[in-house]
Parts: sequence; C-alpha cells; structure tokens
Amino acid sequence: MKIRFWGVRGSIPAPGPDTNRYGGNTSCVSVTSDSGGLIIIDMGTGLMHLGNTLMGREFGKGQGKASILLSHTHWDHIQGLGFFAPVFIGGNQFAVWGPGPYGSAEMLEDILEGQMDPNFSPLQTLKNFSATFEVKAAPCGAPFQAEGLTVTCREHPHGATTALAFRIEEGGKSFVYASDVGQPDEGAPPTPEAVEFYRGADVLLHDTTYFPHNQLNRRNRGFSTYEDAAAAAIAAKVKRLVTFHYDQDYTDDDVDALVSACRSWLDAHGGKEIELVPAREGEEITI
Ligand SMILES: [Zn+2]
Repeated sequence: MKIRFWGVRGSIPAPGPDTNRYGGNTSCVSVTSDSGGLIIIDMGTGLMHLGNTLMGREFGKGQGKASILLSHTHWDHIQGLGFFAPVFIGGNQFAVWGPGPYGSAEMLEDILEGQMDPNFSPLQTLKNFSATFEVKAAPCGAPFQAEGLTVTCREHPHGATTALAFRIEEGGKSFVYASDVGQPDEGAPPTPEAVEFYRGADVLLHDTTYFPHNQLNRRNRGFSTYEDAAAAAIAAKVKRLVTFHYDQDYTDDDVDALVSACRSWLDAHGGKEIELVPAREGEEITI
C-alpha cells in the first residue's frame, strides 16, 4: 500500500515562507491499495490538492470511487470538503465512514451539512454535490472492508470530545493513523488499549502537535507531544513512526527541532530500532 501526505498541519492552515518545507495544509492522507483502491483519511485543506490530482484520473470522467475515513469534525479535518473537485462530477462515488463520537450517521451528516450552510459557504448544501456522497457510521469494534483494504477503528480521547484512529491492513502490512490524540491525563503513558491497537504496525502515524512545554501551556486541547508519540511507538513495537499534525505556529525549523528531539527521545528510551519519518506534504511511503 502507498501512503501519501496532502496536509500535515494541525488546527488551522499555516501557509507561508516559513512552512514551505513541511507544508501548511491541514490533515489529509491518502492510502492506495496494491490493487488501486483509494482510501482518503480526513478532509483538511490538503484534500483540495488531492482532488485536483484525482481529476487527472478516472475521477475527472465521473468514474472514480473512494472511501473517506473521518477521524472527527474539527475544522482542520473537514474544511477541504467544499473544495474537493471530484464531488462536483456526476458518477463519482464517495462513502464517508465516520462518526463513532457522534452517535449516528445522521448526526455526522448534519454536521457536514452545517458546514455548507449559506452563512459559511456558497455551496449551500451537500445536495449540490453531483457525485454520490454517502455518510456511514464506522463500525468500530470489528474489521470492515473499504476499497479492498481491511479497516479497524478505535475511539480515543481528544480534549472535550473524541476522535477515531484507523488501522488499515493489506497482505500482512499495517498502517495506523492516530491523529488528534489527547489523554485526559496529559503526559501519562499510552493506555493498554491504544498500545494494543497500534501493536506491531509497519507504520504508526501519530499526533505530534507539540513540544512538551507547549502542551503544558495549552492544557486539555487534546493533542500529543513527540514524547507521547514516541512512548506509544516503543510500547507497541512499531517499525516506523510518522510525525504529524504540527502546531500551526511552528516554522519548518521548529518542526526540524521537534523531529530531532523525537529521534533523541526514541534512542534514549529503547526505541533505537524504530525508523522516524516526518510527514511532509507531497511525500509518500510504500509498505
Ligand atoms: Zn486536528
């Protein structure tokens, strides 16, 4: 499977000369199966660029099909939707799997519909999409199939709410997406349930929003530090850790320093074998 990063920033887009190297778009990752099935994880502003790329393929002819896994509905995970060109092409088919935290598919659809309200968007309603756009409840607790890939999800704490983590598997390979992770007891070790979910992953993409001092300054926002991410990676014995969801105020040099500190923390706490890969817009990992 191929994992590609379209948006790696947290909370709000942060474009500009100081964020060019890692990118300023918010959360969006694509996963392509060995047979070409497409899963999109989160609909931050990076989704716009993914959509423009897809328009050069079957999605430009109304013959595209993809599943969208949505971790939660904070702005930085949904704001790309109205700018995702393939939803305006009739014949394309999208299934959005989401809403563990929201109780029902109807509630999730209402939230996405609210974003299209004329007060927020000229699109007015999801019904103006020409593509099929079906909102479904992700059945966490048991694996399900999406685009030929096996998906499992898990609800984790995220500030005053929760978000979904996703584990995607194909042919014995595994990719875990765990963004916007905040334990109620910030700085505590990862829970046994989280470790079990991440266990042995070929790639664990984990929220690394903060340096520890920033988590202390911004209590209860529901984000992880690089230490939280590294501790989870070590406990779960993953092969690769991907840093992700960088704080909007961090420059490229700040992110370089965060990644370097994360490497040192891994090395000092039994994680020397774990490869560390910083997520950057436009880069791709194959497993
Ligand atoms: Zn976020």
